[in-house]
Amino acid sequence: MIFKIPSTLASRLTLWYAAIFVVFSASAFLGSYFLTDIALNKRFNEDLLEDILEFRMLMQADGIEGVKREISREAASEGPEIIFLRIADANGETVFTTDPSRWKGFELSQSAFQQIAAGGGPVLGAATIKDDDDDKDAKIITGLIGDGVILQAGESMEEKEEFMELLFTIFAATFVVLIGPAALVGWFMARKSLRGVEEVSEAALDVANGSLDRQVSVKDRGDEIERLAATFNVMVERLRKLIFGMREMTDSIAHDLRSPLARIRANAETALSSANTLEDHQASQADTLEECDRLLQLINATLDVAEAEAGAAQLSKEDVDLSIVIQDACELFEPIAEDQEIELSTELIPSCHVNGNKQYLQRMLANLLDNALKYTRRKGSIKVSLATDSKTASIYVHDSGIGIAPADQERIFERFFRCDQSRTKDGCGMGLSFARAVANAHGGDITLSSEPGKGSIFSVTLPV
Ligand code: ADP
Repeated sequence: MIFKIPSTLASRLTLWYAAIFVVFSASAFLGSYFLTDIALNKRFNEDLLEDILEFRMLMQADGIEGVKREISREAASEGPEIIFLRIADANGETVFTTDPSRWKGFELSQSAFQQIAAGGGPVLGAATIKDDDDDKDAKIITGLIGDGVILQAGESMEEKEEFMELLFTIFAATFVVLIGPAALVGWFMARKSLRGVEEVSEAALDVANGSLDRQVSVKDRGDEIERLAATFNVMVERLRKLIFGMREMTDSIAHDLRSPLARIRANAETALSSANTLEDHQASQADTLEECDRLLQLINATLDVAEAEAGAAQLSKEDVDLSIVIQDACELFEPIAEDQEIELSTELIPSCHVNGNKQYLQRMLANLLDNALKYTRRKGSIKVSLATDSKTASIYVHDSGIGIAPADQERIFERFFRCDQSRTKDGCGMGLSFARAVANAHGGDITLSSEPGKGSIFSVTLPV
């Protein structure tokens, strides 16, 4: 059977966590095991070297008989299977030995003997001793303890090996006991840290199924998952606004198309009735034309806003003198203002240049002036002024018109939005959307300050 890595991130993190735990704890255990082994071996060697020194001193003090007594005493206290001591003469002949029956194969090493005979210091070595039951490892030392007297001491490593075996068993048992809880801790930690991701993915599924008001709880911990949740919430909120905006726009378009189409249909119906005179037919055709123009105007305005909203990259730009643009626009609207007995004035500063699309800027200003004239009563006034600072140029269109209610001021720049009081006037609610799209496409903005009954000021700010 092939082992398949689980597909969830939590399982994979747990596996990683367990694998890292295994590698690190096994390394730590093995490291400690081998260091202990090395330390014990060193200790054995030092003990054996000390033995040679002690026996050398004993030899000086009490002679060979004293050494023999001490050898017998040590063998009796430690046990003949643990320690083996042998004295040899300068020819390598055994002079005295402890019980050799348990230390078969423990011969005097010829090379060590020659080394010592040549005046070298004590020689350490290892040997495998044939015991009755089984073989055992031992450490041996061979060294001179007096004139022509060689001592060979061997110490069984059995106890050390038993200790190392016990140590290994403890380590292995601890390791086996710990791996389960460690994997469990890893699993809980992975689940805990991924709970936020799960919540976001559940919320995303709900959004995909149409719940656009779904939000993920953000607990202000500031970690990556919290940031993901906060970003997700912002994205869903934006999506919600966009979709509602689109729905509203579709409703508005349908609404605005319905009336002219209904009128065109009514005209056609009237024209089909046989009782009509030529004049009736002509009047009906003229009405149809007018309604068609209104429809075209609505469609063109929608396309214009879409084009302007496509952004700065789409617009070809040139050096534009705003004071000239304002002057031209005011000259264009002057006859209408005169007609309505509205005083149209300007307060300009010469040569105020921006990098922009002249045609779009002209149409933006025309929309603002058209509105000002539409919503200002007879004998009112409109003033267009221009101001600059080091970074921006601002155009103000100030009218003494009917003003805009505070509740409507928020929505005035939305597509198709029209205040109730202006429904009788000509228009389709796209003029200010277009103006804002143009200002934005130039890196600027348009704002409104208005008081119902007193007038409005539209301020366009553009970077110079
Ligand atoms: P339209 O003028 O075609 O209706 P706009 O987008 O230009 O569309 O304007 C949206 C609405 O804002 C208008 O219907 C009107 O109610 C209001 N409005 C715009 N300009 C002014 C103004 N200068 N004074 C009062 N109301 C205004």
